[in-house]
Amino acid sequence: MMKFLVLLVRNRLAAVGGVLLLVVVLLALVTPLLPLQPPNVTNTADRFLAPFAPGHLLGTDHLGRDLLSRLLWGTRLSLAVGFAAAMIAATIGAAIGIVAGYFGGRIDNVIMRGVDMLMAFPYILLALAIVAALGPGLMNALIAVAAVNVPFFARNIRGITVGIANKEFVEAARLAGMGHWRIIGIEILPNVLPVIVIAVSTTIGWMILETAGLSFLGLGSQPPVADLGSMLGEARSALITNPHTSVVPGVMILVIVMGINLLGDGVRDALDPRLRSGALTRPMPATTVARDTVPAPRGEGVLDLTELETQFHVGKRIFRAVNKVSLTVAPGECLGVIGESGSGKSVTALSIMGLVASPPGVITGGRADYRGEDLVGMPYDKLRSLRGDRIAYIFQDPLATLHPLYRVGEQLREAIQVHHRVGRAEAWGRAVDLLRSVRIPNAENRARAYPHELSGGMRQRVGIAMALANEPDIIIADEPTTALDVTVQAQILSLLDDLRRERGLAIVFITHDFGVVGQLCERVSVMYAGRIVEEGPTRAVLDAPAHPYTRRLIACVPELGQGRRRLHSIPGLPPPVDNLPDGCAFAPRCDKAQDACRRCEVTLDTAGARAVRCLYPEEDLSVQGGTA
Ligand code: ADP
Ligand code: MG
Repeated sequence: MMKFLVLLVRNRLAAVGGVLLLVVVLLALVTPLLPLQPPNVTNTADRFLAPFAPGHLLGTDHLGRDLLSRLLWGTRLSLAVGFAAAMIAATIGAAIGIVAGYFGGRIDNVIMRGVDMLMAFPYILLALAIVAALGPGLMNALIAVAAVNVPFFARNIRGITVGIANKEFVEAARLAGMGHWRIIGIEILPNVLPVIVIAVSTTIGWMILETAGLSFLGLGSQPPVADLGSMLGEARSALITNPHTSVVPGVMILVIVMGINLLGDGVRDALDPRLRSGALTRPMPATTVARDTVPAPRGEGVLDLTELETQFHVGKRIFRAVNKVSLTVAPGECLGVIGESGSGKSVTALSIMGLVASPPGVITGGRADYRGEDLVGMPYDKLRSLRGDRIAYIFQDPLATLHPLYRVGEQLREAIQVHHRVGRAEAWGRAVDLLRSVRIPNAENRARAYPHELSGGMRQRVGIAMALANEPDIIIADEPTTALDVTVQAQILSLLDDLRRERGLAIVFITHDFGVVGQLCERVSVMYAGRIVEEGPTRAVLDAPAHPYTRRLIACVPELGQGRRRLHSIPGLPPPVDNLPDGCAFAPRCDKAQDACRRCEVTLDTAGARAVRCLYPEEDLSVQGGTA
């Protein structure tokens, strides 16, 4: 609620509209208490007094009645009628829409065709017909305006309800045995309520105008009582000779409707969850870079990360997702990056090519060299020419990365043609070859399949083919097998391994599973809370983990044929990266932690082939030296 108000006030126009409306509504509320002249007492001696006449601030009308008094009483009436009509229309319309949308089928058909028939009439004609049938009068005008707006609400809310009624949480409520009306009350209504509020706030001004229109025609409020519309109607004959009698109610209608519409727009923007989450503020094409100092290049492998630092700046909070990470990948090498969910693996991978969404992501330090050239802060055009060409990605969920409406072959062809000037036919041929090379059977036919027609394993092969499309030097694979079952995972891993050997690919393989690292990677880096805590050759790390965290991770992997061994999970949770502890981030969960671990930052000890960030490592690596 607070957030809603803050967003609303931040929108200047909405705030102006809100203030205008507030003043008008307050005036209308206190009207009976003000020392005003009676609004309906005629005094023909004082006809058409100009504004600022003594005793009549806004002058008088054709019957000598005080305009200020009539204006305030009329405003009161117009607001009340417009508001009541909006409430009635919204309640009835939303009820109809929810029932039609929730039950669907024949109920939906019958109700909505009825609504369609109402909608088929121009609404002013319909309103006139209703008033003609019921007889003129403010109450009947209210009914007419409410009635002609019911279809608008019914259609709107039905559409939203249909979308919600088939969602999993509604199914779950049905499975739990909840009755229809409880589901509507608990599951559906809270979800459509914001839409109803938005619809009301954007139509209430319109309804006030419609009521005023009916009154203007003499079908609404009956003399001597006047609302804003009938005041205008009565002043019409004196429009030229005494314009103030028309201008006064006219300006009030303008102020009310403008105030309501500005406020309504603001309410809509503040309530729409997509606008609120910033989904419509598009991220920059590359991650924002804000580095004070740039470290010296190391230039050892195809890909070198040097003290890379990526943060998320959300309001005042800073999430240190990647905290001075250094990695090196040699040509043709497979480096495993392992860690629990949330340890910063994905953000590291995305930072390399500037793919972290900005805002809120910012690369605040370090560098990422591809063949000795810093990718961080590289001009966008150059970065784009490397993306997908020299450095390619494979993501966890291929269904989310493949376009659902294009055949997979066409998507591969597009990936090739973005970076190479080749004809359509040739690119298609290459696409089919690629599918073949990732061992998709019957590749010519499968290239014509849509993503949803393929199984999960096949889709991930397409993802790999896409990554291979331009024969990259490096593939960054972010948990590519996590969504697959074990047999398919094994096939994909052996496929990646073969491709690496055949093509001399370097692979950065991100996973949370030490079993996978053992199968595929020569070296492994263990990440925890945005930092590397241990690094070394896979075999050596697996045989003799030095960091307590690594040991616990390895203990989580089941071994075949060793059913008796107890599997251990790591107690506790990783620390929130916007509030890291002073010393070792793992200390709160570590059974060996001493006071020293909690006091000061622990550095990465990089003596020898292995590195570990621990004061009391499990293995004495200095003895082991570089032989591991
Ligand atoms: P994983 O190792 O599971 O791939 P990620 O790299 O996705 O983890 O996330 C690393 C950390 O960055 C997490 O602690 C997460 O909370 C944080 N993070 C990721 N995206 C955002 C964001 N948009 N705003 C704030 N924090 C984020
Ligand atoms: Mg991840």
